Amino acid sequence: MTKFWSEAAKRCTPYVPGEQLNDPNIIKLNTNENPYPPSPLVVGAIKQEVENQMNRYPSPTLDNVREKIAYHYQVDKENVFIGNGSDEVLAFSFMAFFEEHQQILFPDISYSFYPVYANLFQIPYREMPLKQDFTLDETLFFGSQGGVILPNPNAPTSIHTALDRIQAIIENNNDNVVIIDEAYSDFASDSAVELIKQYKNLLVVKTMSKSRSLAGLRIGYAIGDKELIEGLTRIKDSFNSYTVDRLAIAGAEAAIEDNKYYQETTRKIMNTRNWLLSDLKKRGFKVLPSETNFLFVHHPMFHAESLYKALKENGILVRHFNKLRISNYLRITIGTKESMEQFLGIIDDIFSKK
Ligand code: PMP
Repeated sequence: MTKFWSEAAKRCTPYVPGEQLNDPNIIKLNTNENPYPPSPLVVGAIKQEVENQMNRYPSPTLDNVREKIAYHYQVDKENVFIGNGSDEVLAFSFMAFFEEHQQILFPDISYSFYPVYANLFQIPYREMPLKQDFTLDETLFFGSQGGVILPNPNAPTSIHTALDRIQAIIENNNDNVVIIDEAYSDFASDSAVELIKQYKNLLVVKTMSKSRSLAGLRIGYAIGDKELIEGLTRIKDSFNSYTVDRLAIAGAEAAIEDNKYYQETTRKIMNTRNWLLSDLKKRGFKVLPSETNFLFVHHPMFHAESLYKALKENGILVRHFNKLRISNYLRITIGTKESMEQFLGIIDDIFSKK
């Protein structure tokens, strides 16, 4: 720590991301990326943008891409905000809608960025316990002092909460904003976007990193009532223009338009997920019900951390969290069917040597 740091810099507890190894021989199942490349239309649109327009600043209002996203969800452009990954959208949302001295609520097991932002912006928070089976007790989130944020489906547990229960949380927080972080909802049975016309206090945050195979491009977005979007825009404008560049905008426009490609890859991932889930169960794993592109598992006979290490020695990277209550679990991203077959082969190898 240095005497030059501001109080805010001192308060920062940096988030520790999953390992990013560039070794092509590693089967990377640790950061919930999509195993398939983005749509060929995305690659074409980016190439064209490189050749044509790189000497020009991007649009200050991002009208085009916001219109395309709005069209996809049957809302207006004024209901859409764009950010540099949904992480940035979430950070802006904490600044725009949560107050110092007013406690916000999120689940005790959820996205580990929330406490990081809350500490940075001095927003007090309380982590509400999930039930024994890791499902959510929505009543614990009723009547919050300063607002609610939760991922649905939850991460890293992969469990989805049905829309009527999310609706109950929104209705019981009339005076506060409820943020639903839908990073994984394209792999789930429903989305809260359909509720945004009904509730002025609902903000749904989404990303192109997972279902649209664009983690490298950094495009996230929020959908909500016009007043909420205006609040986010005010925060953004006091920093700079939109922080997304021309290439990301061109890629995002093509990605939201190529729905057919997106539906095919999402369907493949969900099929592989359901197949892997039953194969892991056959091997004695306990697997939580997943509506995401990952599984959250544990094995009664093998400690998760040693399994994580054994897999890593065999060229497979999964995610292990050193956190109370989930330290005996592993989070496994769904890869291609072939890589998951290799994964199961290595699991069988490891188990046979024990
Ligand atoms: N929310 C959740 C629950 C996530 O797991 C992630 C990805 N780690 C994000 C948001 C952020 O995703 P991105 O910034 O790539 O849009």
